[in-house]
Amino acid sequence: MSLLNNTHNPELKSWVESANIEDCDFPIQNLPFAIFRRANSSEKFRGGVAIGDQIVDLAALSKMEQAQNCDGFSDQVVGQALISCSQTTLNDFMAMPASTWSALRAALSKALAKGSDSASAIEQCLVYQNEVEFDLPCRIGDYTDFYTSIHHATTVGALFRPDNPLLPNYKWLPIGYHGRSSSIGVSGQQFHRPQGQTKAPDADKPSLGPCKRLDYEMEVGIYIGNGNAMGDKIDIDDVDDHIFGMCLFNDLSARDIQGWEYQPLGPFLAKNFASTVSPWIITNEALAPFRLAWNRDQADPQPLDYLSSDRNSDLGSYDVQLEVFLETSKMRESAQAPQKLTQSSFRHSYWTVGQMMAHHTVNGCNLVAGDFFGSGTQSGPEQGEAGSMLELSDGGKREIKLDNGEVRTFLADGDNIIMRGHCQKDGVTRIGFGEVSALVLPAKG
Ligand code: CA
Repeated sequence: MSLLNNTHNPELKSWVESANIEDCDFPIQNLPFAIFRRANSSEKFRGGVAIGDQIVDLAALSKMEQAQNCDGFSDQVVGQALISCSQTTLNDFMAMPASTWSALRAALSKALAKGSDSASAIEQCLVYQNEVEFDLPCRIGDYTDFYTSIHHATTVGALFRPDNPLLPNYKWLPIGYHGRSSSIGVSGQQFHRPQGQTKAPDADKPSLGPCKRLDYEMEVGIYIGNGNAMGDKIDIDDVDDHIFGMCLFNDLSARDIQGWEYQPLGPFLAKNFASTVSPWIITNEALAPFRLAWNRDQADPQPLDYLSSDRNSDLGSYDVQLEVFLETSKMRESAQAPQKLTQSSFRHSYWTVGQMMAHHTVNGCNLVAGDFFGSGTQSGPEQGEAGSMLELSDGGKREIKLDNGEVRTFLADGDNIIMRGHCQKDGVTRIGFGEVSALVLPAKG
């Protein structure tokens, strides 16, 4: 079964020349969505689509009469989609059927392609990306964080529970917990080192103080599009109608607070002080060429029927390459480039996005447009593929040596954590996720 159409055609080039540069994150095959306005302006935030180093201002496009006469934009469904994208959040657009998301993508692809007769109209709606500021792309109603990397779960489990690293339910269901959406911010987020209650193993009682084991988690974020009615479930074969798209997600974590508080009900203050998303949502449709077969090791339990289907086995995985870079204040002061700490791929995930969604709704839980899943820290099978400092520093026991002579076990004040992502495959145009950054400020007194 093919999910590909002409918008994925590697031969397509744009009249926006910056989109045709090799290794550009935003070629015409990508067309991700964000909410933006001109930096330091009082303009209303509105939806935009990235092309090369520019953004198509969808609010401007929606209002432009000239554009309405252009091929593709006269369509009523596309017109309605543009009106939804003109709002300060993308929730209404995300609540529309997947066929509407697809119709707008097809119209934009056609209009931005070389030779398009809409070029002169669309050109008036372009804004340079380096002249804007972003907001969250939608109101995130509910946020669920999963734990789908078995490599992360096993390593971290061994640090917290040496005799019992992987709990017996892990291989039967995608483990998750309900997180807090209010503290999710967009790239560039600055946050204070959290205060919290911790207890050293040899202390008689806990104490309150600034977190000493501050960490990042390299995750993929998944935005839910149109949801399901309460009481209904989403079948694993229908998930593509509900996955709007994906982003980079840094789930900042306070490991010392986590270690003391997490049993029996899971993470609480260790995880709700700040988490950061990249501004762009890469649509599920743009990711189609990078989907892979998903396998479960024959020696492991095979998933129950509601977590299994031929479609999930054929197309369930996404090969999203993820990287983490650290920029310390010393690097910033001496204009050194950020240093790469790790890289891995979402393809190593033990559970698929489809399985997460089918499991989340099997009890009738209703998902709503704008709801958000974190994939859980994506660590690969190799040591250099660990998605957190907790793993890279072996629970704080081994120093991570940086090229400039600095060392880290966990994050220091002034550290800026930068994550980047992209998808690449022979015969297909590479697409990028852009980046997400978050800066650690000292604890508040
Ligand atoms: Ca997490």
